[in-house]
Amino acid sequence: EDTVARIAAGEVVERPASAVKELVENSLDAGAKAIDVTIEDGGTELIRVADDGDGMTETDVRAAVREHTTSKIAGLEDLESGVATLGFRGEALHTIGSVSRVTIESRPQAVDGESRDATGTKLVYEGGEITTVEPTGCPAGTIVEVADLFYNTPARKKFLKTTATEFAHVNRIVTRYALANPDVAVSLTHDGREVFATTGQGDLQAAVLAVYGREVASAMIPVEIDGDELPPGPLESVSGLVSHPETNRSSREYLATYVNGRAVTADAIREGIMGAYGTQLGGDRYPFATLFLEVPGDAVDVNVHPRKREVRFDDDDAVRRQVDTAVESALLEQGL
Ligand code: ADP
Ligand code: MG
Repeated sequence: EDTVARIAAGEVVERPASAVKELVENSLDAGAKAIDVTIEDGGTELIRVADDGDGMTETDVRAAVREHTTSKIAGLEDLESGVATLGFRGEALHTIGSVSRVTIESRPQAVDGESRDATGTKLVYEGGEITTVEPTGCPAGTIVEVADLFYNTPARKKFLKTTATEFAHVNRIVTRYALANPDVAVSLTHDGREVFATTGQGDLQAAVLAVYGREVASAMIPVEIDGDELPPGPLESVSGLVSHPETNRSSREYLATYVNGRAVTADAIREGIMGAYGTQLGGDRYPFATLFLEVPGDAVDVNVHPRKREVRFDDDDAVRRQVDTAVESALLEQGL
């Protein structure tokens, strides 16, 4: 793998959290019902994502790390909904593997009770080269380990922040996926300590409880409103949970917002939420919110900042008013 490719990869994989996002997305794409994320040293030492998804045959595992290889349909729709985040489709594992040491262990799930492969495959991919492929005993599903991220791109490594900061980014990403997928058991462990674990058997409220704890979960207020109950604008519905104004934080990172199921940030959504609280929060305080917006695809512009998932709407003002109204009516119903 040449230097140019490595530098390019370092630009695309910004930090451990970017790799975590791609790996968790792959697990969800593989239909996993349980995803365990284990992090060491903020993700610089180790990122390990284990899932019970479809798994891969030896041929699949070899293909998975190849450039431009995807088993997924690369439709225009995908690109429009912002699915392809790391470069293009089929680039994530290849790109991550060019700036780290990746080990994949995978075994396909049995089909109709028939095990397709008696053993799994272990593949090691380091600095862009496959160095090992061997049979291994492993559960059905996939374990991807990313070790020594940026070991061969010292300039990129130097840009990493403290362990605590890098882990905070990882935590935010994994939290977002856990909240958006309450039917998947998601756990996150950092340096041997379990940070949270959802059961995969609950609803959004249960996921919020697992992720943020009892104090926050008990302060959550449901939001559930259809577009036709809102001022004119593109939103078809707004649903989720927002916190009582007294349960707030000094950081906006607890605003988890989703458009058509994808975790995004958008000024219009944030401003709409904040507008609904008005002066109840006090300066520089933010509520907890886990809010899902449904909107026709053509009303969103996902290309503002594809990697950071920042979106804008054709009519930001209308979205801001709609979100404001949706959250305000939820607060009003509680007499707030
Ligand atoms: P993409 O997700 O865009 O297809 P990736 O580089 O992320 O590209 O993954 C390449 C391929 O590897 C996927 O298309 C999929 O077939 C396979 N793959 C990756 N991770 C997993 C996983 N956790 N379980 C099953 N298959 C996986
Ligand atoms: Mg992927």
